[in-house]
This record gives sequence, structure tokens and C-alpha cells, in this order.
Amino acid sequence: MVQSMKEEKLKVEKIRNGTVIDHVCAGKALDVYKILRIEDNTSIIALNVPSSRMKRKDILKIENKQLKTDEFNHVALISPNATVVTIKDYKVIKKHNIELPDKIKGILRCRNPVCISNHETYVVPEFSVISKDPIILKCAYCEHEFKI
Ligand SMILES: [Zn+2]
Repeated sequence: MVQSMKEEKLKVEKIRNGTVIDHVCAGKALDVYKILRIEDNTSIIALNVPSSRMKRKDILKIENKQLKTDEFNHVALISPNATVVTIKDYKVIKKHNIELPDKIKGILRCRNPVCISNHETYVVPEFSVISKDPIILKCAYCEHEFKI
């Protein structure tokens, strides 16, 4: 037991200031990394970390970055049960359980190729979340429904 705790510590290095996205669905950390567009920040990604809550999880640590509301929604679309932790001087300042909002603007495109939101640049894609597990969205313009 002591051995495994030690191993976990070695794998997951601490950051001084920034954000830790914990409890990311195993295998999804790279998708979260991509959608957040954080190429300019130093990041640590841990994949398939043993977790008591979900067996295996991914962890993403981003230095010098605080998530904005729309970025929380980005993460929620990929991993709805993730936890976002704000770190300052190596200490946990805030913990946030992510929650999928009822409506999502931007971020995604409608999967219906003839939808107006795919043809007019002034139309911002907008979706209602009609199911959270699995995530099913409904387009505000053409009412097309699709699974994430
Ligand atoms: Zn549509």
C-alpha cells in the first residue's frame, strides 16, 4: 500500500501555480488538452492513473493558467465528471466539480451538414443539452440531435 502511494506521487509532479484537471475519464486527457488550446503553457499529462473513485483516470496539470467559464464547458463536454483544482504556491486554492450546462454556445459544430449554422458565419452554433449521460445535444437552429 505504502509502495503504491509512493509510486503515485512520483508520477504526478506538483505545479507551483496553475490548474489541475483531475478525474478526467481515462484516455481523454489529450482531447481536453487539445480543446483548451494551451500549447503555450507548460503542461503535465498523466494517463491511466489508478483511482479509487473511477479505477483509472487521467490528470492534466497546466502551469500558469486559470480556466474561464467557457473553458469549463469545453472540459465538461469531454469529461463531465472532472474536477478542476486551482493551485497557487503549490497549495490548493479552489476545487470545482465540473458540470455540463443546459446550453452550449460555440465550441462545436452542428452535425447536420445543411444546418444554417454551418453555412452562415454570423450564426454562432448553439445547443441544448438534452441528456448528460450519454451526452446528447440538440441544435438550436435545425433541432438535429447528436451524441458526443
Ligand atoms: Zn443544426
